[in-house]
Amino acid sequence: MPGYGWMFPAGDGTVNIGVGALSTMKGFKKLNLNTLLDQYASLVRESWTLGEYIEKPRAWRLPMSCMKRSGPGWVAIGDSAGFVNPMNGEGIDYALESGMLAVNCFLDNPETAPQEYDRQVGERFDDFLRTGRRFSLIIGHPWLLKPGLRIAVGTQSAADITLAVMGNLIDSSTPGVAGKVMRLADNVLRVADPVLRRTRAKA
Ligand SMILES: Cc1cc2nc3c(=O)[nH]c(=O)nc-3n(C[C@H](O)[C@H](O)[C@H](O)COP(=O)(O)OP(=O)(O)OC[C@H]3O[C@@H](n4cnc5c(N)ncnc54)[C@H](O)[C@@H]3O)c2cc1C
Repeated sequence: MPGYGWMFPAGDGTVNIGVGALSTMKGFKKLNLNTLLDQYASLVRESWTLGEYIEKPRAWRLPMSCMKRSGPGWVAIGDSAGFVNPMNGEGIDYALESGMLAVNCFLDNPETAPQEYDRQVGERFDDFLRTGRRFSLIIGHPWLLKPGLRIAVGTQSAADITLAVMGNLIDSSTPGVAGKVMRLADNVLRVADPVLRRTRAKA
């Protein structure tokens, strides 16, 4: 299943525990996240001496794209602009970065800020997020997810590159093996994109 479980100790003897899944996976609409959460909790219950839930589980969506992120006098940042990394669901960094860019653009010139902001976030995030969305289509197919994972984390060097790619720490212009892998992945994913969309896992 493309997704992950997490657990954060809250510091007062309680934990924040949860699960998330990519909507590109086969049968997503039939997936019961409450059941998945129970299963995940049962895996870690003993080692973490977990008790019962103290709150009812809640659900949220992570937006990974948006239709429009700027207009006359306004810009959208963070989640409202769809800046969530499809490879790992992270959005805090992108929210902070896009917020800082927005502030600087408006301080520099409020007239041109929306266009300038759009250009700057496009330069910083668009290629990476597009690759990430294609990646999320791939891992939505179990027959691609399993062999793909074996390659991506099969050795320490491969895992290091995977981590750097997932964290937006390298791009196709990065020198060395990491940049080459990114360029290759970009090209393969671009070519595979129409096929992946057509065979996109249906509910
Ligand atoms: C369960 C879960 C786990 C996550 N884990 C991670 C993680 O480990 N790492 C990571 O990087 N990201 C994680 N994310 C994603 C991350 O939380 C978001 O991408 C990030 O918080 C987006 O920041 P934001 O400022 O754009 O939006 P938000 O943090 O959602 O902030 C928007 C704020 O606006 C307020 N608001 C909404 N409407 C109005 C209104 N009309 N008037 C005034 N205020 C309003 C909201 O109350 C909220 O406080 C996770 C998300 C979820 C749901």
